[in-house]
Parts: sequence; structure tokens; C-alpha cells
Amino acid sequence: MSVVVDPAQRGLTLEKKLQDPELLRDRNLIDGAWCLSTTGRSHPVFDPSIGKLLGNVPFSDSTDAERGIKAAHGAFHDWSRRTAKERSALLRRWYELIMSNKQDLGIILSSEQGKPLSEAVGEVAFGASYVEWYAEEAKRAYGEMIPTHAADKRLGVIKQPVGVVALITPWNFPSAMITRKVAPALAAGCTVVIKPAEDTPLSALALGELAQRAGIPPGVVNIVTTGDPVPIGECLTSHPEVRKLSFTGSTRVGKLLMSRCAGTIKKVSLELGGNAPFIVFDDADLDAAVAGLMVSKYRNTGQTCISANRIYVQAPVFDRFLEKLKAEVSRLKVGGPFEPGVDQGPLINQAALDKVKHLVDDAISLGAQAVTGAREHGNEGLFYEPTILKDVPKNARILSEEVFGPVTSLVRFSSESEVVAMANDTLVGLAGYFYSRDIGRIWRMAEALDVGMVGINEGMISSEVIPFGGVKESGIGREGSRHGLDEFLDLKYLCFGGL
Ligand code: ADP
Repeated sequence: MSVVVDPAQRGLTLEKKLQDPELLRDRNLIDGAWCLSTTGRSHPVFDPSIGKLLGNVPFSDSTDAERGIKAAHGAFHDWSRRTAKERSALLRRWYELIMSNKQDLGIILSSEQGKPLSEAVGEVAFGASYVEWYAEEAKRAYGEMIPTHAADKRLGVIKQPVGVVALITPWNFPSAMITRKVAPALAAGCTVVIKPAEDTPLSALALGELAQRAGIPPGVVNIVTTGDPVPIGECLTSHPEVRKLSFTGSTRVGKLLMSRCAGTIKKVSLELGGNAPFIVFDDADLDAAVAGLMVSKYRNTGQTCISANRIYVQAPVFDRFLEKLKAEVSRLKVGGPFEPGVDQGPLINQAALDKVKHLVDDAISLGAQAVTGAREHGNEGLFYEPTILKDVPKNARILSEEVFGPVTSLVRFSSESEVVAMANDTLVGLAGYFYSRDIGRIWRMAEALDVGMVGINEGMISSEVIPFGGVKESGIGREGSRHGLDEFLDLKYLCFGGL
């Protein structure tokens, strides 16, 4: 796969870097038309690696959100009544267009989000895999017949789309977090209003452009951008015609939106924050554990909700593990997304950088030792050095909050029961990881961790074929796999009487 951009192109405007500049959209997509916000206000989008203005998108408010809902509501009747095969064919076409434009989509994504281009192109393909998967699953929303309880009755269950769905997505995966929701929604027969994150609306709009080209009918996919999510959020969570909210973001905002959805009893799917434990037992393959930690921790500059957040290493192997980890971390190259060979980009914005700095400073002030990094990188942009902290004390905030940055916090432990207690001592439960070769311990640990997903001798666990999601305050519902389709379907029980 070629994802190399000529370094001489780095100074070019985003439009000039693209083979197809039409992918760069700067308007809302409502009912198949590209439109300005009702007020005409716009919102700037910046490149986080150099702070340069990339463009402007509509600064929409609740009026624009209502227009999106109206369009989605208008399109629902026709879309939900099409055969699954027809919806499947359109999704398949969208998938093919995303894949054939993945280089351009990657350039747009890297420019607004900051991740290295190869990672961005990888995300686009990962995101497209959900569209491909749900193009297939669209045809498998089976109902069921139930053995009857009365001789003159027959009992059945059919599945029907829930209706108009509001999708609110984050900036860390600006492409995949959208396709992961839109694809099952459309497969089920729902129509959607998408509100992408303020920092990364361009990837969403480019996907909208390709959905149009794929022939997905007007009003089925609507996109409303903004610089202030609050008024749009209020509209989407209170409007009676929106029947479901699917949200990925922070636990704080997820709780707020869920409470607002209570007013009209909307269904909710929530993918919220994590605080993943990553546990290395003394019988582990240490090289594999280091490799797993590198992908889990430093991918996307540590800005993923399943990033390892607390790294527990059993005392007998602690020093050896640290040496190996240090060697790998020292090889990471930090830089802008279009620099050749870069492994780690900037953080998304100043607030994110400040948070990482505060958490690291707090840990060090309480006694943690900085093995490497623990400072900003370079003089411009929002870069932070890949960091390792060791002997992080239990009361350090970095062990209880999601760091969302390139910081490994190492804690020593002695026994299995001690590490299980520490790992589960959190209100959230998204992902957890552990490395061991003992089959008994593997089963005990897999069952004992209070999380929705477990990586066992593996640091990369995500895929379109698995049910991604968490327990406790990490969320409700699943994305991906056959279970992801059910999130957008209602069950309807049919009782045939008078036989
Ligand atoms: P993060 O801290 O990762 O940015 P957020 O939960 O703040 O996570 O943001 C995730 C998504 O939620 C973004 O699209 C953002 O615009 C949106 N969001 C944030 N606050 C609100 C709100 N009050 N109402 C609706 N959407 C919101």
C-alpha cells in the first residue's frame, strides 16, 4: 500500500494535496443538498500539527439540527421499506467508493486529526470494513417463530428499524466512528443525522460526499457540523422524531445525553471512556507483551478509548519488561502526519495537551519516576514525548483517569488476586489486557476482569466482526458484529389468532 506524500507537498493547501478536491466539503449535508448554517456562521478547522487553518465549516445550531431531523424523517418511509438487498447494494457501493478514495480520505483525516498518514489510511480502511460487513448483515435481520402456547394461535417476531437515529461522534477516529454507526443504522433501515466532533468535521463530510455518489437517497444520511455541540445536542436528544441516540465520547457527556434522552424514552447506545488495565504476569512472553503494549498504548498518540491506561507488571519481571519497553519507546519517531517514518503525531488540541501534562506532573509530584519523556516535544504544534513513568503510586490521578496521551504508567504487583482487585477498582470497564502462558490463569483472568472486551496475549482487539463495547460506566450496547445490527432494530411480536 502506498501512502507516501511528497514532503514538498506538505506546505500545500489541503485541497491541492487531494487527487479529488471535491471530497473536501465545507457545508452541511441535509436532504441531499450541501447547505450553509441557517445563521451563515462558520467554524474554523485547524491542523493540530502546525496550527494552520484548514478551512471553515458551518457553525450550525438547533435550527439546522431540526432541518436534518426533518429530512431524515422524510426519507425514513421509503428507505425502511426498501428490500434489505437494495440497501445492501448501496452500502456495498459506498464501501467501494471509500476504498477507492482511501488515500484522499486519509490525507483529509491526517490533516485535521494529526495521526500519521499511514495510520489514517488504515483507519479509513478499518472504517470501510464496517460498511462492507453491514452491507452483508443487512440481509440477515432474521425474525423468529415461537412454538405456540395455545392451539389456535401462532406466534412470531419480526425486526423493524427504530426510525431516525442521531449519531454524535468523537475526533479520535473521525472516519471509523462514523461508519461504525451509520453502516448498521442504514442496513437496518434507519435514517441518520450525524453531528461530528468540532475538531474533525471534514472526514465526516467527505464520507457524506461518497454516500451521495454511491446513490444513497437524499435525507438518509444528513450531517450537521458546529463549533458548539450543546444546542444541537439538546435538539437531537429531545426531538420526538429521533428514536435513538448512538454516541461515542466521554462518560461525562454520555451521562448527560442519556439523561436528556429519558424525556422521550429514546433508545441509547453509548461507547464511553475506558481505563484499560494491561497486566503482565511473570510467565508471559515479554517480547509479545511489549509489542502488544506498544500498539495498544502509542497508536493514535494514545488517544483511543481502549488504550492501555494502567500497566501492571509482576515484580519478578518488572525490570526486564521495563528495559525492553524503553528500547521500543526510544525508537518512536514523533512528528507531523506527512513526515516520512513518523509513528506518533500531535495531540488533538491544547486542552488535550494540558491534560496530559497535568496528569504526568501530578504523578511525578506524588513519587512516580519519569523513565523517559514527560515533557512536550518540539517548539510548535501539540506534541508530547512518548513517556514511561514507573512506580506510579495508587493515588496518582493518571491511574484513575483516562490519560488519552502517549504515557505508560507502570505499577508493580505481586499476586493475581492483588492485580485483579486493582484492575477492577474503577467505575468504568471497556477493555482489559493480560499476558500469561498459564491456561488456568488465562481463564480465571478472562472471567474476573470487569470489562466488555479482553485482549489475551494480544494488544490489538478491534475489528468489524467483533461486538465492541463496555460494561459499567463505559457504556451500553455493542458496535460491530451481528450484535451491532440489533442496536438499530426493534422487536415486534406478532400473535396470529383464530386459527
Ligand atoms: P472528548 O472529551 O473526547 O472530546 P466529548 O464527549 O466531549 O469527548 O465529545 C464527543 C462528542 O460529543 C463530540 O462530537 C462533541 O461535540 C460532542 N459533545 C460534547 N458535549 C456535548 C453536548 N453537551 N451535547 C451534545 N454533544 C456533545
